[in-house]
Amino acid sequence: MNTDRRQMLGTLAAFALGACSTKPASETTTPAKPSATMKKDPFGKLPSGEPVDLYTMTNANGVSVAITTYGGRVVSVKTPDKKGASADIVLGFDSLDGYLGDNPYFGALIGRYGNRIGGAQFKLDGKLYKLAANDGPNSLHGGKVGFDKVLWTGADKSIADTPALELTYVSKDMEEGYPGTLTSIVTYSLTAQNELKIDYKATTDKDTVLNLTNHSYWNLAGAGEGDILGHQMTIVAGKFSPVDKVLIPTGELKSVEGGPFDFRTATAIGARIDKDDQQLKFGKGYDHNWVLDSGGGSLTRCALVLEPNSGRTLEVLTTQPGLQFYTGNFLDGTIKGKGGKVYPHRGALCLETQHFPDSPNKPKFPTTELKPGETYNQTTAYKFGVA
Ligand code: BGC
Repeated sequence: MNTDRRQMLGTLAAFALGACSTKPASETTTPAKPSATMKKDPFGKLPSGEPVDLYTMTNANGVSVAITTYGGRVVSVKTPDKKGASADIVLGFDSLDGYLGDNPYFGALIGRYGNRIGGAQFKLDGKLYKLAANDGPNSLHGGKVGFDKVLWTGADKSIADTPALELTYVSKDMEEGYPGTLTSIVTYSLTAQNELKIDYKATTDKDTVLNLTNHSYWNLAGAGEGDILGHQMTIVAGKFSPVDKVLIPTGELKSVEGGPFDFRTATAIGARIDKDDQQLKFGKGYDHNWVLDSGGGSLTRCALVLEPNSGRTLEVLTTQPGLQFYTGNFLDGTIKGKGGKVYPHRGALCLETQHFPDSPNKPKFPTTELKPGETYNQTTAYKFGVA
């Protein structure tokens, strides 16, 4: 283990301990902590008349997360800062209408294929599959009507101190051009350790490809409270995937050493974002896949974000091999979100755990194929803390 990684894990362990601390026995006379709760409310109707729900999970530490069945979208995440003041740290809207309108995947579940597929096509078992080109020549985030724009079926799966919401969506054979009937089950749970855990499972009846993720936009100072350039970022990755000018990986896995993509030690996001660097120009900032040192497999810490003023921290753990770190470069101050707040350029960051973009066309990348009889299984946890 190198020094950077050891230092980071030390810091992360300290956060974990902070979040789990128990009160000394002498304090047992103070009122008991409130218990965890799950609440289900109506969240409006789709143009088709179908009702949409909003599930709000609150844990015993007072952290709360609201998720709608429309697109499986995380609508709010309320966490305390270092002084105990709560703020909502994800971008979004107060009502369903905002989500039904034009917006860049706020809080959404992304499928079938998160990120880009080059030329909006791929070959599988020798057959060519054509997708809708919704991002220049490419397919982005599942096509015209991806998993972010469908109605999921919600079920309360809370156990003891852990509220949990199970969302199911059955995507028909050839929906958005992808083969196989794909049944996806995504479970969001809010643990007593202040983690929003997302467990993804999927099965298919024909060979297919998939890459599910969540597209929450985080601002640890609070949604609509300026940009994220002062957030300190750590990513446990020694390599990233350079892209071409339409953001398709070239196939190379390049060392981050010494350049603006090196976040192995905590660095302000804004420190190098406007450097004269071709990759930063292509992305209009950071919009790239980091090749995680873990290689995927077991649930491993891959990123840590700290917002120095509030002291809020966000730790990301995943079983996935890649992380798309996107700095909200396409936000331009035209979207008014919750509470009428405007979301400025680079007003949030996304940490999309994933397989690498364009994998169906890149045989050397870890495979995104799923076959009948197999179960796609992956977990990501976003852990909230204060430093
Ligand atoms: C992509 C960006 C895109 C954003 C919103 C991110 O995952 O990498 O290029 O603008 O999603 O669509």
